[in-house]
Amino acid sequence: MDKKIAVVTGASRGIGKAIASELVEAGYFVIASATTVNGVEKIQSELGESGTAFVLDLANKKSCSDFCSSVIAKGPVAVLVNNAGVTKDTLMLRMKDSDWDDVIDTNLSGTFRITKGFLKGMMKQRTGRVINISSVVGSMGNPGQTNYCASKAGVEGFTRSLAYEIGSRNITVNAVAPGFIATDMTDELTEDQKANMMVNIPLGRFGEAKEIAKTVSFLASGDAAYITGQVLHVNGGLNMG
Ligand code: NAP
Repeated sequence: MDKKIAVVTGASRGIGKAIASELVEAGYFVIASATTVNGVEKIQSELGESGTAFVLDLANKKSCSDFCSSVIAKGPVAVLVNNAGVTKDTLMLRMKDSDWDDVIDTNLSGTFRITKGFLKGMMKQRTGRVINISSVVGSMGNPGQTNYCASKAGVEGFTRSLAYEIGSRNITVNAVAPGFIATDMTDELTEDQKANMMVNIPLGRFGEAKEIAKTVSFLASGDAAYITGQVLHVNGGLNMG
């Protein structure tokens, strides 16, 4: 294959879909994932000859290793975007073990499994980009999201530690922490919740998936070659750290 391969998990909708399309624009052959065959077909029809898609359930170890094998059969991975993520929001006192486990397993352990699957290949190539999608609440916290915030804070620690480990192999590892972006995930919020959040966003609006995708595309590019171990916040000023 003459094009470099970029992998995007969870590209059937929302931010992942925008990232996949941005990376196609940037000239990559994009390999994406959805949790269902229907989702895979939808992605395939959008990507056409610029990419392909496979089923992936990040919470399932076998599914992760099957996904990695299918991708590696296509060629070495230049860019990995760990985008897929889930929420199971509720106050701590009402949170079931399964709500905790599902979110940690998908968002944090899934990021570990998929990154590990492609790491050897990147080390062999002596080049690579790992870009993890975190969240503004990973550093701010948010009531009703102890599981989700813990998973995203974990992803940020993972990002920094791995950046130390593989910097000498010319592989950068960064995270992008979106604020509130208009997708299915934020559609679940009530109008009252949205209005309350808007008060704290200096730019006065939710972000667009494309705005996260542009940031990811920058981190994947040669212009970002000296950036590693960072969490880039894209949140309209909601958190200025
Ligand atoms: P979304 O619209 O809900 O889409 C989630 C994507 O993840 C879908 O492609 C979904 O696939 C996939 N997915 C769900 N469960 C999965 C699993 N177990 N294994 C593999 N893939 C799975 O979400 P989004 O808003 O675009 O969010 C994308 C990322 O940005 C997430 O990591 C999220 O935490 C982060 N983020 C979002 C916001 C926001 O405001 N939207 C803010 C901060 C951070 P299916 O379509 O097959 O279900």
